[in-house]
Amino acid sequence: SAMDAVEASIHLLEDDPLFNAGRGAAFTAEGRNELDASIMDGATLAAGAVAGVTTTRHPISAARAVIEGSSHVMLGGEGADAFARSLGLEQVDPGYFFTERRWRSLEKGLARLGLPIPPRPASAPEAPSARAALVHEEGKHGTVGVVARDIHGNVAAGTSTGGALAKRWGRVGDSPIIGAGTYASNQAGAVSCTGAGEYFIRLGVAHEICALVRHRGLSLQDAVDQVVQRDLTALGGEGGVIAVGPDGRLAWSFNTTGMYRARIADGRPLEVGVYKDEP
Ligand code: ASP
Repeated sequence: SAMDAVEASIHLLEDDPLFNAGRGAAFTAEGRNELDASIMDGATLAAGAVAGVTTTRHPISAARAVIEGSSHVMLGGEGADAFARSLGLEQVDPGYFFTERRWRSLEKGLARLGLPIPPRPASAPEAPSARAALVHEEGKHGTVGVVARDIHGNVAAGTSTGGALAKRWGRVGDSPIIGAGTYASNQAGAVSCTGAGEYFIRLGVAHEICALVRHRGLSLQDAVDQVVQRDLTALGGEGGVIAVGPDGRLAWSFNTTGMYRARIADGRPLEVGVYKDEP
């Protein structure tokens, strides 16, 4: 099913330290990893989300478990981890999410903000001496999102992230917010977003795209372009979205220099892109 495909794909991305989700997540200003994720089923409008989890290895599975294991849509913080644990979802030491690259980004980010650098997490591996050899990818967000349409014509969307670098005060972005970072409806399509969450929340980007398709009859591509290139850009926000319609049509749009992305469909070759001029 589309839901299974979304969850399984996001597992791989959460496990991959290259992305800002699961292992490899961005750090908070306090040097912690607080993970957000959400998933939505376009067939039933069932949706689940978690915000600020710190010990659940696969936040996307915790989000999905909210649908099946509770009568709620969104759980936060320690309660969300406790819920995931109670259902047997894999728990890890918070040090599992640590990567040297993100720690360096945090140090740089805090220096820019004039904030103190927290002590290295006790569970982190010893700092390597060859500091210069580390690759920095400042400005590339790395939140992960997946949209899928299955053979039954059902669509689903999921998003998982460590959130904004050096976030403070329990900040929560758009990724776990249904309607902002994630939305799916068989009547319009499935959408997952990445970018500066504060703007995506204010525009309700994922739901807005679906609303334009449903109420204005826009094609999915026109809808994603209108919201990203016009509304998001006008508000000063940066980021992008991926989307799939119930007819299987795929769309994406971003106003940043690049957005790591890929898509595949029956009878069509795999397309992979980073910058604007690629497929
Ligand atoms: N949208 C995410 C957030 O604001 C971050 C990102 O996509 O890079 O938490």
